[in-house]
Amino acid sequence: MVYECIVIGAGIQGSFTAYHLAKNNKKTLLLEQFVLPHTRGSSHGQTRIIRKSYAEDFYIHMMEESYELWAQLEKEAGIKLYRRTGLLLMGPENGKDFQLIKSSIQRNKVPNVVLEKHEFSQHIPNVNLTSGDAAVVETSGGVLYADRALRAAQMVFQSHGGVIKDGEKVINIEPGNIITVTTNSGTYQAKNLVITVGPWAKTLLSQTGLHLPLQVVKINVCYWKEKVPGSYSINNRFPCFIQIQPKEAEHDIYGLPSNEYPGLMKVCYHMGSETEPDERDRQTDRRDVDAVSNYISRCLPGLVPVPAIVEGCMYTVTPDNHFVLDHHPAYSNIVIGAGFSGHGFKFGPIVGKVLCELSMGQNPSYDLSPFSIQRFQGNPQKDP
Ligand SMILES: Cc1cc2nc3c(=O)[nH]c(=O)nc-3n(C[C@H](O)[C@H](O)[C@H](O)COP(=O)(O)OP(=O)(O)OC[C@H]3O[C@@H](n4cnc5c(N)ncnc54)[C@H](O)[C@@H]3O)c2cc1C
Repeated sequence: MVYECIVIGAGIQGSFTAYHLAKNNKKTLLLEQFVLPHTRGSSHGQTRIIRKSYAEDFYIHMMEESYELWAQLEKEAGIKLYRRTGLLLMGPENGKDFQLIKSSIQRNKVPNVVLEKHEFSQHIPNVNLTSGDAAVVETSGGVLYADRALRAAQMVFQSHGGVIKDGEKVINIEPGNIITVTTNSGTYQAKNLVITVGPWAKTLLSQTGLHLPLQVVKINVCYWKEKVPGSYSINNRFPCFIQIQPKEAEHDIYGLPSNEYPGLMKVCYHMGSETEPDERDRQTDRRDVDAVSNYISRCLPGLVPVPAIVEGCMYTVTPDNHFVLDHHPAYSNIVIGAGFSGHGFKFGPIVGKVLCELSMGQNPSYDLSPFSIQRFQGNPQKDP
């Protein structure tokens, strides 16, 4: 049989693309190299931050609809996926990044509360605000239950007639009006193909002659013990946070209230060291963990500054940290979603929607020029 669409990769982006395709009555096959569920890509784990706090208006606009689509999935699956905690944003008061986000959320009327320095500790106990930093809370920020969300999107996809074949690694793609996809155990055909393979994108796309400047980094996902149990807990209304320009490191540090492991708060560095997706456990650089540990000693005094649990995950980073959402430059019936640069989960429903639209030949609901392949100028090159 010839499918209307094959989606390669059952992470959050591929699963939501398949979800939208099936809801549009397109006969869709979702292929995944590992047996589901798995922890070897970028979408596993219990929690992710959801927020509208972005410097760029286009992300804020996409997130407005994304929140609605998350709520819709909650209804369809009959399961809670979002918990509102607020998102505390801290950063140098006169720093460009902090100011840009603050003015964007205020301009776009994202609900927020500015915390003055004298009232900070009254509202946010157990956090030391860095001298020279300011703070604002986006009240709609919160936690997404990631593993549950992935399962829910796949479940609704299947309930609309979608087919998932897991444990099947795609090893060859033959473009054409009818595309032939070969896995380690079968051959499938479709009129359209969507490639959402996360950290494996660079390798798989290069087999189609497309070379994207994607860097894969390993993230050490660290959990830190509360000295007094509950002091940073989701049940005690502790918010998610992002620390812009911490003194300890070049990139942001972010945290989520203790939830999935009782008494342990997740605090991570928003960058890692370069790796290969199939060899990520060989990457043992811990300088990021040291930076977070120093930050915790200074700013989160109620946590033991030695990680109690360290898990692994990967980011696939583009040079400008914006996603790739586009047609393949050489084959219009191949659509690509890649380079989510460590902030793509919350966009899953909307990324899935626009990739579905591209694949169906429709005009996308959003201006996708920030996400074009063209922006990499000269790179990608097509193979001669
Ligand atoms: C530690 C960490 C924290 C994060 N925190 C946040 C956050 O707070 N908020 C937020 O919005 N985002 C966050 N992100 C980012 C977000 O999780 C990612 O952007 C998102 O999960 C990327 O999804 P994906 O579907 O592109 O990739 P993946 O989840 O990696 O999915 C790709 C899938 O393709 C499969 N695949 C690859 N090659 C093949 C092949 N040849 N054949 C078949 N299948 C194949 C893989 O096995 C994988 O399942 C975080 C990421 C990490 C790692």
